[in-house]
This record gives sequence, structure tokens and C-alpha cells, in this order.
Amino acid sequence: DAPCADFSSVQIARFFAAEAQRFRAAHPRCAALHAQAQRHFLFGVPMHWMADTPAPFPLFVDAAQGARLVDADGHEIIDFCLGDTGAMFGHSPAPIARTLAEFGAQGATTMLPSAVALEVAALLEERFGLPMWQFTATASDANRFLLRWARAITGRPRILVFHGCYHGTVDDCFVDLAEGGATRMRASLLGQVHDLTPTTRVVEFNDSAALEAALAPGDVACVLTEPVLTNVGMVLPEPGFLQTLRTLTRRHGTLLAFDETHTLSCGPGGYARAFGLGACRTLGVDSENAPQRGQFLPDSPPHSGTMGQEDGKKWAAAAHSQPMIPKSDRLLEPDMLVLGKPIAGGTPGAAYGFSAEVGARMQAAKAAAAPGHSGIGTTLSAGLLTLRLMRTMLAEVMDEPAYARMFATATRVAEGLQAQIAARALPWSVTRIGARCEVQFRPTPPCNASEARAAFRDDLEAALQLALLNRGVLLTPFHNMVLACPAHTAQDADTLVAAFADALDGLAGA
Ligand code: PMP
Repeated sequence: DAPCADFSSVQIARFFAAEAQRFRAAHPRCAALHAQAQRHFLFGVPMHWMADTPAPFPLFVDAAQGARLVDADGHEIIDFCLGDTGAMFGHSPAPIARTLAEFGAQGATTMLPSAVALEVAALLEERFGLPMWQFTATASDANRFLLRWARAITGRPRILVFHGCYHGTVDDCFVDLAEGGATRMRASLLGQVHDLTPTTRVVEFNDSAALEAALAPGDVACVLTEPVLTNVGMVLPEPGFLQTLRTLTRRHGTLLAFDETHTLSCGPGGYARAFGLGACRTLGVDSENAPQRGQFLPDSPPHSGTMGQEDGKKWAAAAHSQPMIPKSDRLLEPDMLVLGKPIAGGTPGAAYGFSAEVGARMQAAKAAAAPGHSGIGTTLSAGLLTLRLMRTMLAEVMDEPAYARMFATATRVAEGLQAQIAARALPWSVTRIGARCEVQFRPTPPCNASEARAAFRDDLEAALQLALLNRGVLLTPFHNMVLACPAHTAQDADTLVAAFADALDGLAGA
């Protein structure tokens, strides 16, 4: 067993075995449900990846409210996973429960427009700056349709994504960077028989030179990216990288699409509004203060208070003047934008927005096409009930005070985790962006997905996650991500940090 800067694989395995035993002993009913479920479900779960848990069997959930889950064995758990963002504003916020009670008997879906759709679009424009919108059932669909439109209106076959991206079940995006800069299919993809590599280019995030080279031939319809990569650990943009991305895409006639499904955790208008130069000016904050890689050196706090409670208050002030940001200042303004997960209160619902110019080109493309199936849209999209839930979320739930609470909790968690790491001199780092933070097993935040992936330690991650679950705290499976919702309290943050410290002590003693 090679010596390791933190914990040896033998220690991790011993600790994991003890925690797995503890989990089994505490969850007899979950175990029984999982055994019964084998008859009906793949891997004993209604969606196969629910079985990808570090626990010996999945936690079956009876109820969820605010920041709490109750499992089938009656344990109350503080939920920092929040359905991997679908419940980012807490489980069943009161206005959502009220909307369901009020409108649940007035129709869910009609395949016809409604006045409430106009209200939702106005609320979206006010926050995100883009005037035109379409709705889908999931963020995956929104990304898929957006790419189809982008190809249709530019007449260009290729798209570009960054290594380590995840945009939902969008086939075009399941590629990785191979040796020598080539694109290869993602090895884990099941059942895909078409070669995606001729039509998707992939480069490393934060690599402006590779980006420029990939856009230079002028055949890329669209760059689709999260403003911060959040699905390969967390990778922050280097100072100026997103501005370069905007400049280069404009120069080469390529559309820029931001997938803000996760970075909606950065503020009421997502990352682009929180950290675009225009937004920073409006808030009286220097854009240099936007959390970017390089600022979070190990011995400075890993977030420099850049999105603490004070910023939430500034947002509150800024958001009340209309328009929030002068148009000329929107230097990070994308051509297209995707929102999903929490925006319909945790029920299926997503949206994509675009500029009026892009909208005009879409209309022209559709008008010029043969009548019939466009390949864009599904029957359950833009339903009456979904739009009512979105209106409630935008008008009553996703507000500045909610963000201020989320940032305060996430800051407390990130500082607490960092302190525990520092106290043990572990070579790990914590990165926070708004309400979201991530522990990564390397001393500095990664610059790109290759660096982030090189720091993956599946055994260590599983041991920590399971230990936290045994101590009443759920993190997002697949990575060490903590997401704060408005219902979390300072005490919840402290419980998480104490559980983390206890787990580290357990590992050290194993
Ligand atoms: N975009 C991003 C950035 C995501 O992280 C995800 C899901 N993790 C999606 C899109 C897809 O969302 P959904 O699974 O709800 O379609």
C-alpha cells in the first residue's frame, strides 16, 4: 500500500467497511424495500443511477420538506444534495404547495398557450436579460433543442463543448478530449451507435488558444457550456476566459449558449448576471472580485467572501431598479441560455431563452422548412400547471433574501470544511460559487477537467459520503458537492462540518 499524503487505501477500505455495517444496521426497512424492488426495477431502483450510491443499498425516502428528508427507517436527514439542484430552494416551499392546492384542479396540460406563459416570460427576461423563451420538460431537452436550433439557423454542422461537460442526456455532448487534442466518444455512453466525433469538437475549459483554433474554421454552430463546470468536480473560469469566449464566438459567427441549470445557484440571474462585467458594475463590485480560479489559494479563504450575505443584499438593491443591468453592459451576454431543475418547484420544467435576433432566425428557419416534425418540442412542455409553478418560483421563491440565506449557509460550510482540512494539513481544497461548494482532493482548485478528474478518488469520496450519511447529512452522490437551500440554518452548516470532522478522525484512526 503506497504511502499517501492523506489516507491510505487500506485505511479508507477499513473505515468504509465499518460505515457500511453501521448503515446496514440502521436501515432494515430500506434494505427490505431494496430487496423487494429487484423484481420490478433495474438494480432495484426506479431510475438506474439511484443505485450509484456509496451506501450498501440506496436510502428510500418517505418525505421531504425544506432542507430535511425522512427515510423509510424514520431517520431525519439534513439534505445538502437537494435532488442535485432540482430542490435548490428547499423541498416543497410553501408557495409551491399553495400553487398546487390552488391550481391542481384546473388542468395540467393542454398543448395550448396561456396568459400565464407571458407572465413567466416577462419574469425570465427581467432576470436573465433575454427576451424570447421556449419551454421544455427537462434541462436535457432544453439543451438538445437549443443545439438543434443552433445548427438549423447557422447551417453549420458542428458544436463545441468543453472537456468534462455534462448537459443532461444530450448525445452530442458525450465526448471527451483524447490524446493529442482529438475528440472521442465518452467511454461510459450506452447504446449510441452514431459516431459523434465528426460533429462535436471538444477543448479544455480555460484554454483560449485551443478554443480559438477550434472556432477558426468557421463551421461551429454553437458553443454550449456552463459558465463554471460543475459536473466534473468544480472548475472555475480563469480571469477573462468567459469574456474571451464571448469575443471569439462573436468573431467566428458562433452562437454562445450558457447552460445555467446549476449556476443558477450564483444569484437570481445566474452566473452571467452575477459576474458579468455589467452586473459587477451595477452592484458596485469590481469584476475582478468575481470568484475565479487563482483567487482561492490554499492559505486564503477559498471564496474570499465574494458571495456572502452582503452580496445578497446588494443584489436585492440592484434587482429593484429596472432594468437590472443596462443592455450595453452585458458583456457576458450569451445568445442562448438554458435553465432547468428548480425552476418549476422541483417538478419537471425547463426553459431556454435567446436574443430577438436569434429568435428571428429560428422563425425564418422553421418557415423555410418542410411542414411536419421539427424534432423540437414534446407534448408535456409548457403545460399550464408547470408554468404556474414557474411563475410562483420566479415571483415568490427565488428572491434575493432566499439567495442571501443560501450564500450565508454555503459560506459557513465552505469556511468550516476548509478549517477542518487546514487543521489536518490535508492537501485538499474547497471551492465555492454562490450557494454551491465542492471539496476536491488536490491542494488548489483545478484549472480544467483533466486536472479535476486526476484528483478523483472514488474510494475516499464514497467513504466520506457514507460517513456523512450515517451522521445525518446527505451530499450529492457522484461528487463532494454541497448545495445550500434557503431552509438550511447555521446549525445545519455546523452539523455538516462536525460530521465531516468526525469522519476525518474516523479515517485517521482506521
Ligand atoms: N445541465 C446541467 C449543467 C446539469 O448539471 C444537468 C443535470 N445534472 C442537466 C443539464 C440536465 O438536467 P436534467 O437531468 O434535469 O435534464
